[in-house]
Amino acid sequence: MTCTAAAPTRAVGTVGPELAAADRWTDDAVAAAGIPLRDVPFVTVGGGIGSFVTVDYLRIAGVPRSGIAVLTNLDRPWRTYEYLTRVSQIPRGERIRSDSASRPDNIWGFPSYALQEAVRERTLAPLRQVLVEPLLADFYTPRLGAVLEGIEREARRIGYGDMVVRGEVRTVRRRVGGGYFSVLAPAAGTSPFRRVAVRSRDVHVAVGYPGLRFLPDLQRFRLEHGDFVHVVNAYEDHEHVYASLRRRPGTVLVRGGGIVASRILDRLLRDREEDGLRTQVVHVLRTYVDGSHGPHPWARRAGGDGFAYQGFNYPKSVWGGQHKARIRRLDGERRARAYAEMGGTSTPYRRGWQRQLSEGRRGGWYRAMAGTVEEMRPGGREPVHVTIRTDRGAVQLGVDFVIDCTGLEADVTEHPLLADLLRQGGAVRNPLGRLEVERTFELRGTASGDGRLYVSGAAALGGYFPGVDTFLGLQIAAQEIAEDLARRGMCRRIGPVRSVAQWLKWTTDRRI
Ligand SMILES: Cc1cc2nc3c(=O)[nH]c(=O)nc-3n(C[C@H](O)[C@H](O)[C@H](O)COP(=O)(O)OP(=O)(O)OC[C@H]3O[C@@H](n4cnc5c(N)ncnc54)[C@H](O)[C@@H]3O)c2cc1C
Repeated sequence: MTCTAAAPTRAVGTVGPELAAADRWTDDAVAAAGIPLRDVPFVTVGGGIGSFVTVDYLRIAGVPRSGIAVLTNLDRPWRTYEYLTRVSQIPRGERIRSDSASRPDNIWGFPSYALQEAVRERTLAPLRQVLVEPLLADFYTPRLGAVLEGIEREARRIGYGDMVVRGEVRTVRRRVGGGYFSVLAPAAGTSPFRRVAVRSRDVHVAVGYPGLRFLPDLQRFRLEHGDFVHVVNAYEDHEHVYASLRRRPGTVLVRGGGIVASRILDRLLRDREEDGLRTQVVHVLRTYVDGSHGPHPWARRAGGDGFAYQGFNYPKSVWGGQHKARIRRLDGERRARAYAEMGGTSTPYRRGWQRQLSEGRRGGWYRAMAGTVEEMRPGGREPVHVTIRTDRGAVQLGVDFVIDCTGLEADVTEHPLLADLLRQGGAVRNPLGRLEVERTFELRGTASGDGRLYVSGAAALGGYFPGVDTFLGLQIAAQEIAEDLARRGMCRRIGPVRSVAQWLKWTTDRRI
């Protein structure tokens, strides 16, 4: 259905029912709704790391600042990432999971984080580590602070702030005649302004995680008993748990076997070790991995003591090896199966963590068990009474806190913009239930005349490129998008001469 009517909506400057119900809008219909129009050739919605790396590619490819609008509710591109890493126990001084294969602030990836750290801190240690990893040392990965400082510098260099328009986008609609309208509404906490429709030929959407996924039993406990203190999700601010354990010894139940669980265990055991606390930790894993495992003899992953070990969240070949090539050719059920074979929760093998856990096992303050939490209710002496279903029957435990580290992501329809794209934008779901994108990251079914809508990040997971929700994945997506835009005449391709010239500018921090 197309909305061409000049019928004014009930409230001037809002998306009324006629517009909301229409799949395509005309310029007249938007003007009649009293929504001011602004023209910008390329819009990116989200303004997090995915938007940032896409804008970085386009600026390096020669697109001027005036050609790009970043529609976002964030004041800085790293805000959400930093929040999620901080609450899940990676403050700026700690090391992140990924290595220098991707630098979100540097499309060339050179110099690497290890080289930069070696020069900055006048030490050969990072270079030595890179030389012998992963056999004789853990994988080298940079400190969060170095990653964020790099992004801050690059944002300044490319004039990122000049392209940002603050607000929230709930609607991106195809325009009759080609292109899209992205409707920007005031975001909570920003100064009030009227909605504005940004008219562009192309749109990129990278809105990150649709929402936090709380397990039903966790949600039930919190709502029924009004207790948001003793049962928390690792992706929420839960510093009060560590503060309370400092005041009074307690038992913490940790759920999950991924990197976030490793971080939380590290914090609990480090606080115990460094500050002489008497914290007891019970670790519940639904799938207890006790050795190397995998679907084929030639595709196995190391494991033990409950954990599946892997340096990065996928095998490295998804970013540029046989997995990338293979999955690019798969559709439907076969693609879903390939994801299932590669996927699964894993955590890096880090020698420091192994030592902490072995000491905890020996000392009896860290216990891991295979099982699922069946019920949580307010306890007697301890605040939470937990029933755990194990192979050998039910185990009852009284604990002071439960920290859930089992997952982050809600369904894509929890996000109003993604839900709207499925409902009215022509988008379809991929075999994993997210949004189906083409190999160029164009959102399938949403072309509008000569305009294209691209999606990268978590919303596109399940597509032809599995690593899409990582720094390197977002950069590979950005490169594909920039190349598609170059083919369609928006910018130049970044050829060898341009690449070298731009790298020299990057090295000398020359503004572009
Ligand atoms: C704890 C944690 C650690 C990670 N560590 C690594 C790592 O070490 N290496 C790695 O490669 N990857 C890592 N990742 C994965 C991934 O690279 C990051 O999550 C990355 O920030 C994703 O970028 P994004 O742009 O998709 O999402 P974000 O950076 O979250 O940005 C999207 C933003 O869009 C904004 N937004 C949402 N809806 C709207 C709307 N309607 N209108 C306007 N704005 C909106 C929100 O503010 C949102 O935050 C990690 C993820 C997490 C959670």
